Amino acid sequence: MTTRTTDKTNNTTLEVARFLKTLDRVAITTHVGADGDAIGASAALLRLMCSLGSEAVFCHAEEVPNYLAWLLPEGSILRELPPDHDLLVVDTSRADRTGVPVPGAGARLNLDHHEDNPLYGELNLVNPRASASAEIVAELYDELEIPLDQEAAEAIYAGIKTDTGGFRFRNISPETHELAARLLRAGVIPAEVHEKINRRGTIEQLNIVGVSMANACRYGQALVSTVDKYDYERTGATELDSKESIDQLRSVEGVDVVAHLREVPEGTKGSLRSETVDVGEIARLFGGGGHKLAAGYTRHHMRPHEAKEELLGILEDYVDLGGAR
Ligand code: AMP
Ligand code: MN
Ligand code: MN
Repeated sequence: MTTRTTDKTNNTTLEVARFLKTLDRVAITTHVGADGDAIGASAALLRLMCSLGSEAVFCHAEEVPNYLAWLLPEGSILRELPPDHDLLVVDTSRADRTGVPVPGAGARLNLDHHEDNPLYGELNLVNPRASASAEIVAELYDELEIPLDQEAAEAIYAGIKTDTGGFRFRNISPETHELAARLLRAGVIPAEVHEKINRRGTIEQLNIVGVSMANACRYGQALVSTVDKYDYERTGATELDSKESIDQLRSVEGVDVVAHLREVPEGTKGSLRSETVDVGEIARLFGGGGHKLAAGYTRHHMRPHEAKEELLGILEDYVDLGGAR
């Protein structure tokens, strides 16, 4: 009698490389609210699949933001999963956060770097030590001995640059910089990638970032900024625009946890950042998730000021709120 094990396993780069060679038609998707790593890693994997002779498309129900759409080859973006395509999911910590619904057959590959990823794919290539999912895709290029052309190198560079806050965060390793050097040799010009990704803002975005910074309140070792629908009205900006302020909010000395709480149609979306506290654990308490030092969650039917009170109630178990409560 054979016993079937239901244990989820993480696969090796070699196993995944071999598996990818067997696929003829793939659709690649990534998490909702795609960021630079989501699109960069997807674009790099898409180009890798094309190099292997596979037909490859990128699928996402949401529009790819303009500042990232240039990373994907022209004509490769679809809004729905086409029939008879194997689904490869990139940079997505949970199967319920994919840009298109996972079909009954499931995700054939789950490639990610979130430590809370439950290995939901048929094959899983999850490495929490990688600074970005794009770094994992680069390992597949090496395993398959596919040279990095300029487009693939730019996509990988964009993923790493955005997920490391421009090579600043604690997720960076010597390998990250060694890979970056190779990407530059393959034709990446950092100033040009920066131009295309970071210098495409609008005055509305600039204004909402300013509002978000002005709304920040400090509670001992915590800092919380809330942005609501009136702030969007005042500036003409969107809720996503306001999130851009999260990195500036991290500049206050002595602050260990930074929270950005923005109003969204369903309630409030929280973004948490820290250098020391496991904010992934806090996000999971609210039904969200993410990395140890960068995590997020959504509170349904809750306005930002309510979400702030709730969050401070939890934060007092993690940091000193300076007697603010
Ligand atoms: P954000 O603050 O939206 O940039 O998210 C930071 C990290 O947390 C990212 O890696 C996200 O994938 C993850 N994350 C954000 N929101 C959620 C959520 N609702 N559920 C699970 N993970 C999330
Ligand atoms: Mn991401
Ligand atoms: Mn990522």
